[in-house]
Amino acid sequence: MSIAESLIQLLEEQALAQQFSRVRKLWLEIGPLASVDVPSLQFCFEAVSRHTLAEAAVLEIIEVPGLAWCLGCEARVDIHQRFDACPKCGSYRLQVIQGDELRVKELEVD
Ligand SMILES: [Zn+2]
Repeated sequence: MSIAESLIQLLEEQALAQQFSRVRKLWLEIGPLASVDVPSLQFCFEAVSRHTLAEAAVLEIIEVPGLAWCLGCEARVDIHQRFDACPKCGSYRLQVIQGDELRVKELEVD
């Protein structure tokens, strides 16, 4: 199932739980390690949201930076993709701290 379809499903579940009937806007956090192609997600979302509670909803993407802890030089470093080497010491012993998120941060609903 595509990400856009799972998003709609998630919104429908939330609508039942929180009793709203329409989504006006949603903010989605996406990290660089989530491997999401943002333009194609926007496009798919628009297509699959038709005739659903999220029809005409605005999808705002919040890009979360990738961060890792380097076991080589014991520093917090920026990473742009999974299996990047440490930009400081070149080590591959990195523990991802942040950057693989794909989650709904906020909803504006009716
Ligand atoms: Zn390092």
